[in-house]
Amino acid sequence: MVKVNGNYLKLKAGYLFPEIGRRVKAFSSANPEAQLIRLGIGDVTEPLPQACRDAMKSAIDEMGTAEGFHGYGPEQGYGWLREAIARDDFQARGCEISAEEIFVSDGSKCDSSNILDILGSGNRIAVTDPVYPVYVDSNVMAGRTGESGDDGRYGGLTYLPISADNGFAAQIPSEPVDLIYLCYPNNPTGAVATKAQLKAWVDYARANKALILFDAAYEAFIQDPELPHSIYEIEGARDCAIEFRSFSKNAGFTGTRCALTVVPKGLKGKADDGSEVELWGLWNRRQSTKFNGVSYIIQRGAEAVYSDAGQQEVKALVSFYMENAAIIRRELSAAGIEVHGGQHAPYVWLKTPSGMDSWSFFDHLLQKANVVGTPGSGFGAAGEGYFRLSAFNSRSNVDEAMARIRNL
Ligand SMILES: *Cc1c(COP(=O)(O)O)cnc(C)c1O
Repeated sequence: MVKVNGNYLKLKAGYLFPEIGRRVKAFSSANPEAQLIRLGIGDVTEPLPQACRDAMKSAIDEMGTAEGFHGYGPEQGYGWLREAIARDDFQARGCEISAEEIFVSDGSKCDSSNILDILGSGNRIAVTDPVYPVYVDSNVMAGRTGESGDDGRYGGLTYLPISADNGFAAQIPSEPVDLIYLCYPNNPTGAVATKAQLKAWVDYARANKALILFDAAYEAFIQDPELPHSIYEIEGARDCAIEFRSFSKNAGFTGTRCALTVVPKGLKGKADDGSEVELWGLWNRRQSTKFNGVSYIIQRGAEAVYSDAGQQEVKALVSFYMENAAIIRRELSAAGIEVHGGQHAPYVWLKTPSGMDSWSFFDHLLQKANVVGTPGSGFGAAGEGYFRLSAFNSRSNVDEAMARIRNL
């Protein structure tokens, strides 16, 4: 009989969201009249920008003509999109990133998992705790971890706890690591990293020949002009970091699908024989072999994000969600709840009141306020005692959810 990939059997069976679903369903069946408000899921809710829709509609019409038809495009993305990204997202912020170093893709979730294809199996890996579960599960699937323990942590991974005790800043570990996943602004805690904090990581990575995988999916939500949007704002990062970006959260592309990965030329890893190999060439080979590019239509939609109209619409979307976040922060604080995040990220990370654990608070909120959030412990052991509320919702839902919480 055909054999399965045994690494998949090590996965803690997708516990968090199915368990939330189970509890919500049980509550709804028992209380069919309850009007639930879901502030749990990290998906956008506002419509796609007009500039993006117009660009996609024109692209569809072009595709209907003999001259404007596009078949397979470049696996790395069309030059005009890579140029716009390099210029507006990176060079405009002083980052020395060229169009050739941009790889357009259909999502950061896939890129941050697929990147393991070009990395060896002996790497010592560090992730934060709590963490975006994709980083951990993709390593489990690729056989880069041991089994999971009773605490839900996998053998072979170095967990970097982030909590109020360290200001939600990932601390450099005492044991050596080769591969470090950093996500700022952070999902789930909503924390953001300063230049000094990122510099400490870049210095560590260069000194130890480690690689940083920097997930900047939420960079558009940063409000303070002093804060870095890209790891490449830090000197030396070209030699030690890959960055993931996505149009999902800034331009509402979660269902449209377009993202990008930056692999700087000259960034190197080590082969088994000790020789140094450029990661750019490996990633280029990986994408050319296993990926056939993002649709022309979608790439034209993404390009429109960089037009004046697109920029205005994206700014308005971000402001809208950040006002939601400000309302959530204000109302929870007024209700005596300790809040974190939500100032440079669309997530508010609250300390569960009266020492409740994360799941007890989930049940409490569900039953008493009919509001659904995400238990912090679902993102890692160090998330216990915390709870995530998302600012991705309509204003009326956010207002109503906060009114209910205030009245608890
Ligand atoms: C939403 C999100 C992304 C974006 O993923 P896509 O596949 O591009 O939609 C990436 N990283 C984190 C941490 C996210 O929350």
